[in-house]
Amino acid sequence: MPELPDLTVVAEALDASLRGRPIRSATAPGPLAVRGTPAELDALVGQTVTGIRRRGKFLVIDLERDRVVVNPMLTGRFQFASPTERHPTKTAFVLGFGARSGGPPKKAATWTRGASWLPAPDATPEIRYRDPTQMGKVYIVPAGSDRSVPGMGSGEMGPDADDPGLTLDVWRERIHRHPGELKNLLRNQAFVAGIGNAYGDEILHAARLLPFRKRSTLASEEIDALYAAVRDTLSKAVAILRERVPPTFEKQVRDFLAVHDKGGQACPRCGTRITEVKAGGFITSYCRGCQR
Ligand SMILES: [Zn+2]
Repeated sequence: MPELPDLTVVAEALDASLRGRPIRSATAPGPLAVRGTPAELDALVGQTVTGIRRRGKFLVIDLERDRVVVNPMLTGRFQFASPTERHPTKTAFVLGFGARSGGPPKKAATWTRGASWLPAPDATPEIRYRDPTQMGKVYIVPAGSDRSVPGMGSGEMGPDADDPGLTLDVWRERIHRHPGELKNLLRNQAFVAGIGNAYGDEILHAARLLPFRKRSTLASEEIDALYAAVRDTLSKAVAILRERVPPTFEKQVRDFLAVHDKGGQACPRCGTRITEVKAGGFITSYCRGCQR
């Protein structure tokens, strides 16, 4: 499932590649995944991309008038390709882009500058959104429309886990509303947005806290350590993924993780065999040796 680090890197790369380009074509080979009418889909054509960003576990494509929001859920992936390449199976939604005048946008993420995968200004790249399980959704949000995107409402989504506005003081204040288990807390998008099952495990390992421990049992130093682990784990993962994900942006790189999905292997910190349990349909991995 794409989480904050995965989608941050995809959003930065797509923004550097596509901002300033007009949409040349918009098609929905898998119309069930798309929330919007055929007329709303057609109306995207001709609009220029003003920015591509991540919010929580959603990818947002801002256009000069309308907006497209993608919630990839479990298996949705973005592929960045030239239109001559064949569409992969289970492609649900395709946007084709025209040439742009001038080079990459000045505000593009610095790591994208001069990258070999950046399309030439006169290229006509495509993004394909594909989803083998068809659980994800593409929302077309026309300007002035009151179409809501489930999960993005004001009460449904807290600040992004990497938001500069989420200071330690804000974290301490917000976390007190949630007394329950730490793994559930980190995955709760209304608390902080962007963390899912994999990075939830990684953050708790970094903070040396057990996933089923209740927040109400944490000392104040542990609450602060959890905040530091959130920031540190996510920023390190983003740095690694910037190196490893391009040019195939549909690739989900997880092999560098310390504990998640590594049940039975040695903990990289203490050598204890990593424990893995399946709860609520999700795998939770942790170390009994060094997490308390
Ligand atoms: Zn350990």
